[in-house]
Amino acid sequence: MGAVARSRVLAAAGAGALALGLGACGGGSGGDGSTGGTSDGVSVVATTTVLGDVARQVVECGGGEVRTLMPVGADPHDFSPSSADITAMVRADLVIANGLGLEESLQSALASAADDGARVLELAPLLDPLPFGEHGHDAAATSGSDGGGREDPHVWLDVSRMAKGASFIGAELADVTGDDAYVTCGEQVSAALSETDTEVRDILAAVPADERILVTDHDAFGYFADAYDFEVAGVVIPGGSTLAQPSSSELADLAQTVRDTGVRAIFANTANPTALVDALANEVGGDIQVIALYEGSLGPEGSGAETYQGMMLTNAHLIADGLTGVTG
Ligand SMILES: [Zn+2]
Repeated sequence: MGAVARSRVLAAAGAGALALGLGACGGGSGGDGSTGGTSDGVSVVATTTVLGDVARQVVECGGGEVRTLMPVGADPHDFSPSSADITAMVRADLVIANGLGLEESLQSALASAADDGARVLELAPLLDPLPFGEHGHDAAATSGSDGGGREDPHVWLDVSRMAKGASFIGAELADVTGDDAYVTCGEQVSAALSETDTEVRDILAAVPADERILVTDHDAFGYFADAYDFEVAGVVIPGGSTLAQPSSSELADLAQTVRDTGVRAIFANTANPTALVDALANEVGGDIQVIALYEGSLGPEGSGAETYQGMMLTNAHLIADGLTGVTG
């Protein structure tokens, strides 16, 4: 997938990009070494695997290196950094975080790294954030547990937002290094992601309008629903994070909601055990499927979801097949 994405980037950008790529390979960015932490180009630390992969694509074009703090399969809501991670953040030229409270167990480390002089780019607040709970899942979340108007951090599940994010990363790297090549690199990755957005729409077109209903483990799909015209009918874990538990009466109410929707599949999270979603499926009864999606993390090698583009295309196929009963 990486090679495919890269070739698309080059194809989209034409001869200018080739010249740029050769320049970056030959001498690294900022050949006079005026800025940056390493002689090989800019040094970037990203928090999540999604941000790490998008940043990698920009940095591969312009020169430099990206270290991703979270391992593949980590839940961003529940990741605590090591002391080496904290050192890496302070030493990096740029730290790219999601923000809006996603990295719950990383927030104090991010704040203290910023206090120690780290430059932190929080991407989600720049990508037209939406409040939690705008997508019709009123019944599942009970009083006071639906995020209370907080902004939803799960922006990456709308590929068009991450296309804008790639441009922001490129512009920020150009500002950090003084090398405008990163602006062009960011635009190239952005163009590649816009193509992926179109592919996602094409895959999801298989789902009829009245079957575009999502029931998921936690409230991660607000942006996805908004972008791709789905309704979130309910979520198992209240409060917008993965770090809570539904009561048995909430689960029973949600099961009734799910029966009323008639959906063929409900969705779990590859980064967490499926027990809660399995419990909901048992409560619903019948032969409803539980399908795990790549929500907060890329997938492992061989999963098809090892790049951000691959992750979103895989999710689109899983959702389309699950809701239309193709895999049933
Ligand atoms: Zn989440």
